[in-house]
Amino acid sequence: MSVKNLMRENIVSLDPYRCARDEFEGSAEVYLDANESWRKYIDFPGEINRYPDPRSSAVRKALEEVLGLPYDSTIVGNGSDEIIDLLFRIFCNPGKDSVLLLGPTYGAYKVFASINDIKVNMIPLDEDFLPDVEAVKSAIDRFSPKLLFICTPNNPTGNAVPLETIRSIASYNSAITVVDEAYGDFSREQSAASLVLENERVVLMRTLSKAWGLAGARVGIAMCSSEIHDAMYNVKYPYNLGLPSQLEALKALANAESVRAGVEYTIKERERLARLLERSSKVVKVYPSDANFLLVKVVDANEIYLGLQKKGVIVRNRSRELNCENCLRITVGSVEEDDRLLAALEEL
Ligand code: PMP
Repeated sequence: MSVKNLMRENIVSLDPYRCARDEFEGSAEVYLDANESWRKYIDFPGEINRYPDPRSSAVRKALEEVLGLPYDSTIVGNGSDEIIDLLFRIFCNPGKDSVLLLGPTYGAYKVFASINDIKVNMIPLDEDFLPDVEAVKSAIDRFSPKLLFICTPNNPTGNAVPLETIRSIASYNSAITVVDEAYGDFSREQSAASLVLENERVVLMRTLSKAWGLAGARVGIAMCSSEIHDAMYNVKYPYNLGLPSQLEALKALANAESVRAGVEYTIKERERLARLLERSSKVVKVYPSDANFLLVKVVDANEIYLGLQKKGVIVRNRSRELNCENCLRITVGSVEEDDRLLAALEEL
């Protein structure tokens, strides 16, 4: 079955908007096709008076060179949040279709689904926060979701899902399996990129917001098969990623060595922070993490959250998430920042 059969009919039959930069892709001496200003008024290292490349081609070439994500299979979004929203708009009929989540997981899936009037079914991860494969398969049978999200390493739990588990779920699922590797750069698990090449119903998401230090530039990435790629291109805003963000992404990708060193630092610091947190009388459990944060069960999450806040240290209170009673999610910072967190915790 073609993935097109899973898409909304109005998307398959869409006559997409084509912008000036779609119609003419080469280079010319005079551009009078897009009603831009002929000059720029600010100092900027690029043609900020012109619309940006709608395909983010240079960024995608760099993604292929640096991350090995094939150029033809990638699409760049305004953060991976845009990719999530695009997937809902392409595959899910509002008021009719559903998605399946494995909780606890990244909160935006549920919120973006609700905004698009798509029903959410959530089944719990097991006690190690891993998918219970048989339970997932029976939920697929019961709910027939259009999209199934697997977040690995998972937010807020921090643990990674083994590639074989994802493969087994994705090959059972006759609809779309979305693998969100926002924190994949920190993980020891193999990436699911190979699954996209094996299975046209798998969509992989990455982002430059975490390990690559570009949260402010909003650069998210999807790797997917060609029919999904075309649909995403047709549905996204024509110029979804601004020129400054495209240029910053190129700079970051040209600096992969520093980023890798930063990832090493964070992993080492994560282990140090975990060890020191475990010694605290206020900490009940530090969950194993493959990401740049730790899920920490404490004696009283609300009290500790507010106490830390008063001392100028902000963490995320996740205690209302499924199976996360009294849990805080703590981002791994610099050694100095983490020492301030530990000192504030002891002072409480
Ligand atoms: N996926 C996960 C699991 C996340 O935690 C986040 C951000 N917190 C995102 C996606 C969105 O990232 P981006 O900045 O690329 O929109």
